[in-house]
This record gives sequence, structure tokens and C-alpha cells, in this order.
Amino acid sequence: MAKTALIVGVSGQDGAYLSRLLLEKGYRVYGTQRRSSRLSAWRLAELGVFDDITILPLDLLETTNIQRVLEATGPDEVYNLGAQSFVALSFEQPIYTGSVDGLGALRLLEALRATGGSARFYQASSSEMFGLAPTAPQDEAVPFHPRSPYAIAKLYAHWTTVNYREAHGMHASSGILFNHESPLRGSEFVTRKITLAFARMRLGRQECVEVGNLDAGRDWGFAGDYVDGMWRMLQQDEPGDYVLATGRVKSVRDFIDEAARCIGMRLEWRGAGAAAQAFDSDTGTPRVRIDPRLRRPADVERLYGNPAKARERLGWEARMSFEELVAMMVEADLARLRDGRVVE
Ligand code: NDP
Ligand code: GDP
Repeated sequence: MAKTALIVGVSGQDGAYLSRLLLEKGYRVYGTQRRSSRLSAWRLAELGVFDDITILPLDLLETTNIQRVLEATGPDEVYNLGAQSFVALSFEQPIYTGSVDGLGALRLLEALRATGGSARFYQASSSEMFGLAPTAPQDEAVPFHPRSPYAIAKLYAHWTTVNYREAHGMHASSGILFNHESPLRGSEFVTRKITLAFARMRLGRQECVEVGNLDAGRDWGFAGDYVDGMWRMLQQDEPGDYVLATGRVKSVRDFIDEAARCIGMRLEWRGAGAAAQAFDSDTGTPRVRIDPRLRRPADVERLYGNPAKARERLGWEARMSFEELVAMMVEADLARLRDGRVVE
């Protein structure tokens, strides 16, 4: 019989890719939407899956609502992707972020326990939990040192997942995912902000883009690869914690250089620190400036993961290269701009 999956946070980047993957595998897919937000359906529409999933209202702030959705759907697998996922905003809204991202996972796990179902549970944990990590690359054994209210909330959810596994014997797994991007990434994140800006520059619709910390290093993979890792975790006999990463690190500056290359522009960098600027080497036009307001009260300077455990136990690996990822994102933004269907 076909399995049933419930995806909390289906309207986000990962929700769309995971929906597509599970539908391809023959699952019946339920996804949840907050009643308070207008359903952002463009990602599901772009992947052609909107009509094939059933959307139900659920807010991670509301316990009884969660319980009713679990009872109505009777899922075999629950994927908790729901979150206020933007680190910078978590400094402005730390309490809200803590309640959705941290306590939200607890509400969901507690409702699962109360309904007595045997659903397998996936928690969307984050490499941000490593924060100021003492060693690199980071694997499952590296101690956490979160640097933002977002990361602290995710850590609470991570340990709650571990605890429900240990205390209640639930099949609850935590995927510690390093940054993963795609054309469906929200435009507030630095990668998509850059690809959209350079696509606009290519069409003469934008001159320059402002960014914050140019030197921040991240392990950027492709979201489509990562949702497959989520699914693999829930197919194991035993639940566990897994790092999903590419194992390579690139800086924001590297990402900018690659996006520029994709539109045939060569950048010349001048100055350092807050005075760093990049110019179009053909025309001398300033293309990248630093806006100090985009810096965070505490940032994570460099993260990259060691996915050896996921490779060995799940047979998972990140397949897309950095260059392919940036090109895919720039090309998607160019196509949308040309067709007048830009989505942010
Ligand atoms: P998105 O921000 O694109 O999606 C987040 C989803 O959560 C949206 O569907 C959003 O719905 C939903 N949501 C927000 N608030 C609530 C709430 N109160 N109750 C229920 N749902 C809510 O994130 P991604 O798809 O990129 O990431 C998926 C998960 O993985 C997130 O938890 C994120 O923190 C985590 N993660 C992501 C990484 C990445 O690099 N992408 C890395 C590591 C972890 P709405 O449309 O209503 O806002
Ligand atoms: P995060 O890793 O989940 O915080 O993903 P982001 O894409 O938001 O940020 C990645 C890194 O890029 C962080 O270290 C940011 O400080 C840095 N960064 C530099 N400039 C910007 C910017 O303009 N926007 C965002 N979102 N991040 C920026």
C-alpha cells in the first residue's frame, strides 16, 4: 500500500523538492500551510506538484491544531521543515523564532506521542548549530556552539528529537544539513540575492548589489540532493543523526565571482573590509558594495561538513558541483526575468 507523508512547511524550498521526490516514489503527500499566511504556492507550481498534494492548515504555534492534522492524515512519515528560517531575522524576533523553530518541534513530537501513531519523524536541523565550531570539517561528533537565536532554537529541537528517540523509543531522526540552495531559495538568503542581482545586471535592470560579510564561508549544496538524504534517514531500521554536506567551502565573495562569470562579467575587487568593492572590469561600473547594516550581531564565519556517516550508512552524497549550482540559479533567474515571472 502507498505510504502517506506529512510535510510541515511544504511551501518552502525543501518542501517543494521533497514533495516531488515523495510523489515520484508513489507516496500520498499532505503538506501544511499556516492559516495566517497566504499560501506561497509558486515553488510547488514551478515543480509541477501543486495539484498532486493535499494542503491542510497547521501552525507550529498551535498544539491542538497539530494534533488534529495528525489524526486526520495518519501519516507513516512526518517531515518537520517548518521554521522561521532566516538567521538575520532571528536576531530581531528571537522569541518568535524560539517558539516556532524550537518549541514547534516539541509540539509536533508531543502530539505524535499523544496520538499514539508509529510515524517516523524527520527534524530539519541545521549546521548553524555548530556555529563557532572548534574543528573543521564538522561531523556528528563536533560540539555545538550556536551563534544566533535561530541556531539556539534549532539546537533545542535537535535535542528534543534525540530525547524522544531515547525516552519514548520513537523513530525520530535529525538531519544536520549544511546550506542547500536552488532556484527556489528565498531571495533574502545571500545566494539567491546574488543570482537574482546578477541576472538583473545582465538585463540592464540593476547596477549594483549590496552585501554584508563577504568573507563568510559556507558549504553550499543543491537542495534537490538534500531532500533525498532526508527520505533515506527515515528508511533506516534505526533512527539517527546525520550530517548532510558537500565537504567543500566557498566564500560569499567566491559565490559572487561565480555568478558574475555566469553572465560573462569579470569583476575586479578593490579595497578591503567594509571598503571592499567590486567593479565590472570592462566598464568600471561598481557592481558590489558593502552595506554594514547587513552584517549580523554575531556571524558564523566558516562552516563545512563531513558527510562520511551519511555516505556510509545511507549511501547518500551531494552530486551537484558548486559551479553547476550557481549556473542553475542564475539561469533560472534570467529565464524568470525574461518571462516576467520573477519570484522572490
Ligand atoms: P523555507 O524558509 O523556504 O521554508 C520554511 C517553511 O516553514 C515554509 O513553508 C513556511 O511556511 C513554514 N513555516 C514558517 N513558520 C511556520 C509556522 N509557525 N508553522 C508552520 N510552518 C511554518 O526553508 P527551507 O525550505 O530552506 O528549509 C526547510 C527547513 O530546513 C527549515 O526548517 C530550515 O530552517 C531548515 N534548514 C534549511 C537549510 C537550508 O540551507 N535551506 C539548512 C539547514 C536547515 P510559510 O509559507 O507559511 O511561511
Ligand atoms: P545562513 O547561513 O542560513 O545564515 O544563510 P544566509 O544566506 O542568510 O547567509 C550566509 C552567510 O552570508 C552569512 O554569514 C551572512 O552573514 C553572509 N552574508 C553576507 N552578505 C549577506 C546578505 O546580503 N544577505 C544575507 N542573507 N547574508 C549575507
